[in-house]
Amino acid sequence: SSIFSSVPTAPPDAILGLTAQFRADPDPRKVNLGVGAFRTSSNKPYVLPVVRRVEQQLADDPSATHEYLPQDGLQSFCDASARLILGADSPALADGRVTTVQALSGTGALRVGFAFVANFISSSTAVYVPKQTWSNHRNVIPAAGLPRALEYRYLDPSTGAVDIAALVEDLDKAPAGSIVLLHGCAHNPTGADPTQAQWLQILDVVKRRKLVPFFDNAYQGFASGSLETDAWSVRTFVAAGLDMLVAQSYAKNMGMYGERVGALSVVASTAGAEDAVRSQLKATIRAMYSSPPKHGAMVAAAILGDEKLFAEWEGELVKMSARIMDMRVKLKAALEKNATPGNWDRITSQIGMFSYTGLTSQQVTFMREKYHVYMTANGRISMAGLTDDTVQYVADAMKDAVE
Ligand code: PLP
Repeated sequence: SSIFSSVPTAPPDAILGLTAQFRADPDPRKVNLGVGAFRTSSNKPYVLPVVRRVEQQLADDPSATHEYLPQDGLQSFCDASARLILGADSPALADGRVTTVQALSGTGALRVGFAFVANFISSSTAVYVPKQTWSNHRNVIPAAGLPRALEYRYLDPSTGAVDIAALVEDLDKAPAGSIVLLHGCAHNPTGADPTQAQWLQILDVVKRRKLVPFFDNAYQGFASGSLETDAWSVRTFVAAGLDMLVAQSYAKNMGMYGERVGALSVVASTAGAEDAVRSQLKATIRAMYSSPPKHGAMVAAAILGDEKLFAEWEGELVKMSARIMDMRVKLKAALEKNATPGNWDRITSQIGMFSYTGLTSQQVTFMREKYHVYMTANGRISMAGLTDDTVQYVADAMKDAVE
């Protein structure tokens, strides 16, 4: 028999497994609220027109070749990405304390960042993630050579908001030098973000305990519709002069999910280490996949680097985020009109692609089996999966599930 015969089957991914189940469901009423991608008001994938136009220009541009990028990617893309998240007037950029490399979307930025920590800080570095977090964080951290992630408490389930006292209490016990993974905005899966005052409390404990923030920004501009608002947390921490890491993704905000466009920035508290840091990031990337893909980075760099295209993109962010907020308002209204037991304020107070409904895993199963409404077992729904045509059906199913 083959040496591969003894390979055990991996458990299905919590999120990707759901999509496969949805596809296989023949019921015409089925609704997919599991998917982490934007859908239009008629439930279709969306290619941003500005992205499409730039792609067409690239296709016609004889100087746009398919040559390799260097390990750290397209320089114009990296520079523009750092300015986008940190702010063009960032003191860290002015001081030259930032090293930015292109990465395979947000996941790749996290993976390279954690590998860098494991190899050049310490492979025993403790990493704290919020108790509720994107499930892949728990895969990426040990895969990068670090111990399994530790948790800090995040959500108050009774209100659906951040439990700041518990969060600060947990971080206060973390050893100096620990990495704290923070969702820059639009916390996934809860949709609950700290208020600005609460971010300052988190900054305070991070400074006091000498922790190293690693910001995961998968939703800049997509959450509030404003690139500035959604970068407030990162910029506030950078202004405090800390050592930190920052992951960026253009999957959601440019709709380039499958093109794997992202960046990792290492922000140092003092200048001087940039050349060494860059050399090691490049060596890390070289051994993993040699160099990143070019197409998406070319598209993003073109949009970020041109005032008119940039303004058009900002308009798209407003439209996409507004559609999601509209669905929040409509779902809450339908739940309340149905007199669904419970308080549904959280549907509209939460932000980003997801809402944490508070449904139990039994209720989630019930909704899937009886109504063919799909969501992750933790009760997270993707607001982008709702449309005017399905919002009432989903609200009715939710009422039946909680009663
Ligand atoms: N981080 C968070 C919190 C996310 O929600 C996601 C996407 O769902 C990602 C990172 C990374 O996504 P990608 O690798 O597609 O950029």
